[in-house]
This record gives sequence, structure tokens and C-alpha cells, in this order.
Amino acid sequence: MKKFFFVKVLLACLMVGLLIAAASAAQPAKGSKASKPSQAQQLRQMSTFLSNFTEVGLFDFDLGKGADGDTLHLGGNPSHPELIRFGIMHNYINNYKSRIKPCPTKGCKHGSLVIDAKFVAESVKKYFGIRLKHVSVKDPGQPFYFDGRLYHFEGADGEAVYYAEVKQAERDGAIIRMTGDLYNSEDKDDRPYTFEAAAKPYKWNGKDTWVILSFKAQSSGSDSEPDMAGLLAPTKGTWRFDGAKDTAYIVMDGKGNFDAYYASGALEMSGTLEPSEEYEGVYIYLLRDKSGKDLDMGFFMDSETQLHFGNDEGQIYIKDKD
Ligand SMILES: [Zn+2]
Repeated sequence: MKKFFFVKVLLACLMVGLLIAAASAAQPAKGSKASKPSQAQQLRQMSTFLSNFTEVGLFDFDLGKGADGDTLHLGGNPSHPELIRFGIMHNYINNYKSRIKPCPTKGCKHGSLVIDAKFVAESVKKYFGIRLKHVSVKDPGQPFYFDGRLYHFEGADGEAVYYAEVKQAERDGAIIRMTGDLYNSEDKDDRPYTFEAAAKPYKWNGKDTWVILSFKAQSSGSDSEPDMAGLLAPTKGTWRFDGAKDTAYIVMDGKGNFDAYYASGALEMSGTLEPSEEYEGVYIYLLRDKSGKDLDMGFFMDSETQLHFGNDEGQIYIKDKD
């Protein structure tokens, strides 16, 4: 109950925050009326904001200092290579036509594209609230050369791009905490990560936006989901009770279907198999009849050629050799 109360208070604070934001965003009438963004609109704006980081591959960072752990700390060094990379790649992706130019130096060894450093600094200030100090980045994979005015670099395409979808946002004092999913820009159903992010309201050119404080994506576990096809494949075959001839047997197709026969060869029943994790990494194959009714029995695979039903005293079936 305490937790629900807490959430309600946060929601109430968020609503008040939205009202204040809407009020402060209201501008002198210029023909159009300023309207308060709906919560859905706010979530969409937050999603767009966070996607600026994920689209350049920044999945795990904060504005702390130092270099401990896996999290990238971008706060201690105003020339952090990842800030410079963000400032350049953000414009490469979003402002290619207006800000990225071919390098004026013929056969330039520093890269065939250039961007004015002021745009790089502007993007870093806008999204991180950090005043960038320009330097060359000597990353052997993707170097950025600063010549005193321009950054020279080569374009890079082809990697999967992920966007953020904010599902919940809560105000926590001056901080907005957001959670949601990352999805593949080419397949919205491909959502391999969840994330938690924190940001601060920020004014940029008179508009309400945010600066990022931290972002952490985590594997959503969808890739550790059981591989049903892989679990069912080894069941393919004819399985005989005790491995003896002239006994009951079960034929499985390796795709989740089975036919059980009496020793006489008459069909006893047909149905489907449902692998279910009994405990860590160990599956029981539950049997259902054709209508999907649970038959209240299941087997474990002991090896590629042996399975047993129920408990350890259960019936053993041995697979026929091909
Ligand atoms: Zn160049």
C-alpha cells in the first residue's frame, strides 16, 4: 500500500510539473494558442529526446567522473571522446544536409567529411548541458580530427539503430526519471533492452527540453527466452517403453506433436508437447491432448536417446535407432 501511495504522490507531482511546464511554455499570443501537452505527447517528446543518445549507441552512461565499472562517466572530462563522437554523429544522423560538408582539402588524410566545431559544441551543450572543449579523437576505429575550426571524419553506417520508447515518467524533485524499452529502428517488435534514464528540465533557445543525467539499458531477457524449436527438436523419433519391442511406444515429430500407441499398435492418443522450465535450465515436457487439455503428465529428457516420465521412478522410454 505504501508503494501505491508513493506512486500516486509522484504522479500528482508529475501532473503539477506538467501544468507548470505548460504555463511557463505559454507565450504571448501569436495567433496560435499554446496548449498543454498531453501526457502521451510528453512521453513521445521524452522518447525522441532519449533516442538521440541510443541512435548513436550510447546505452550506458552518466555524468559522473572517473572510469570505474562498465558505465561510461561523461562528467569529468569536457573533451571526453564520447562527447565529441556524440556531437559529430548526432549531426551526421540528424543534420546531414545542413551541417555536414565534403572536406575542402583534396585527398585529406583526416577524413573526407567535415563539420564546423561550433555545431558539435552546440549539440553537446543542448543534450548534456556540458561545454565541450575541442580536441582530436584518436580512436583507431573512428578517429575525429580537430583542425582548430572543423572536425574531419569519415561516415559510418550499417549498424543496427535502437530508439527509446518511454513508458513511464516520474518527477523526483528536480529530476525526471523515465523507464521504457529500446526497439530496433527497423522492427518495432524487436525490443532487446529495457532502460532507466534520468534527465533534468532545461531551456534551450526558449523551448522546454531536458538535459540527460544518466541512461542505462539492460537486456530485457527476450534473448534468454527459451528457444522452443531448439527444445522440441531432440524429441523427434519413436520412443519405446523400456526400449523393448512389442511394448507401448510414442512417436514424436520434433515440432511438438506426439502420437501414443498401445503395444498392439492401436493409437491411444495424439496431442502436443509443451516444454516448461521445471528448475534452472531443466525442462519438463508437458503433454496436452488435441484440444489443449493438460494431461497431467510430462517427461524429462535424460539423454538424446532416453526420457523418463514423471519422477525418477517413472517409466523410461528409449529412442529407436534410425
Ligand atoms: Zn578532411
